[in-house]
Amino acid sequence: MLHVIYGKDSYSMTRELLQSMSPEKEWNKDALIALKPNLVVSKPSESGATTSPEITRGVIEHLKEKGFNNLVIMESSWVGDSTVKAFNVCGYEKLARKYNIDLVDLKRDKAVKKKGKNLTISLCEKVLEIDYLINLPVLKSHCQTRLTCALKNLKGLIPDKEKRRFHGLGLHEPIAELNFLIKTALVIVDAVIGDLTHEEGGNPVEMGRIIGGTDPVLVDSYAAELIGLEIEEIPYISMSNQAGIGKLFNNETVLKEYRLDDYPQVTLKPSPRVKRLADHIVEVGACSPCYGALIHALSRLEERGTLEKIPGKIFIGRKFKDIESSSLGIGVCTAKFNKSVSGCPPKARDIVKYLEEHLINN
Ligand code: SF4
Repeated sequence: MLHVIYGKDSYSMTRELLQSMSPEKEWNKDALIALKPNLVVSKPSESGATTSPEITRGVIEHLKEKGFNNLVIMESSWVGDSTVKAFNVCGYEKLARKYNIDLVDLKRDKAVKKKGKNLTISLCEKVLEIDYLINLPVLKSHCQTRLTCALKNLKGLIPDKEKRRFHGLGLHEPIAELNFLIKTALVIVDAVIGDLTHEEGGNPVEMGRIIGGTDPVLVDSYAAELIGLEIEEIPYISMSNQAGIGKLFNNETVLKEYRLDDYPQVTLKPSPRVKRLADHIVEVGACSPCYGALIHALSRLEERGTLEKIPGKIFIGRKFKDIESSSLGIGVCTAKFNKSVSGCPPKARDIVKYLEEHLINN
């Protein structure tokens, strides 16, 4: 099962989600619980690169209220950036001080080798002490692996030298192996703001939701569809599935959704790249989960070189409800258009498929 809550108030969304999920029900109160945000670079979460501290605050308060006090925040930023700086810039230093929680910069930790299924991997030693790992990734595209979300976020738990080796090995197999060695107890994805193109942010896109689950493969295979990717484009997801780490998302996966009547509006100022894609859109009163999906879908088409084949503009937004038109619309609000992608909100993958089927390939 996956849980999805819509909105933009990350703190209250996280609280409501965890209250419903109760992931800690069976956990031992003395257990060491590590929170692993994505602080790949020293940029605030509005950049699309890093996990909002408001989500982490929601997780901390939930756990403390339930009597869990042995909490730690662990991370190692990417090679070339300082985790200490990222803790500060991203608001985690303040958070740790407020709740009296240790911040562990894993760049300063020792390395320890562990044998996976096919590879031996160096992990940061402190990771071996964790009883429950709470993975707090951001939903982003990635130039090399296409998607970075739950499975890839564990790369922050290995030494810098090992990160370089992972890149040399093509990332996919080592990411699957890493997830074979480190078990994730809970995933809470920051998909309120993610990034369109890179893990270091710069092209933030509002997706207006937080995703919760206990299976990182299920989370990632769902997240891939949200941003218009096919599972086959992200080999580490299938490899992780085959290694028994988790299941793939499909039509039978139960999706529990919250705040369906409270989709947030688009508020972010677009980056030049997002603006270029938005030139294909006429938007009036669109919800960000819908609009974000359309931006990701257009980005996928741009990557495939087919974006310019779309004739005319694409309409999206509540303003188009009950309006008849011969144009193309996105979401149930445009159900009376001649051509309309169903869903409220639709996934980027469904938008890509519809556009390729109806406008590009015929
Ligand atoms: S279809 Fe309409 S109401 Fe539904 S998410 Fe899109 S814009 Fe919002």
